[in-house]
Amino acid sequence: MALSRRHFMILAASVASTSVWSAEARANAPVLSENDPTAKALGYTTDANTVDKAKFPRYETGQTCANCQLYQGKPGSANGPCPTYGGKLVAAKGWCNAYVKKT
Ligand code: SF4
Repeated sequence: MALSRRHFMILAASVASTSVWSAEARANAPVLSENDPTAKALGYTTDANTVDKAKFPRYETGQTCANCQLYQGKPGSANGPCPTYGGKLVAAKGWCNAYVKKT
């Protein structure tokens, strides 16, 4: 099926506006606090090296938000949105018990 020029332009405009919206949403997202009740329950920390391994035995050395499937930050960024916390910014070097290894 051929895509008409008009449909192509509409599609391109929606993709562009979605990207802009996402960038704006990302810039305005609040930073997740370790004291947030959900963060506390899931053992979120801004530094994966400080995870209490006795309390959170799922944690394995090397796991960080940056290599979690749910992390939506750009590669190399210090933080990025996480859907587990409604899109709040989590530290790339952080970790929580909802960690899912990126495949
Ligand atoms: Fe980090 Fe993943 Fe937990 Fe989100 S779900 S805080 S990205 S470890």
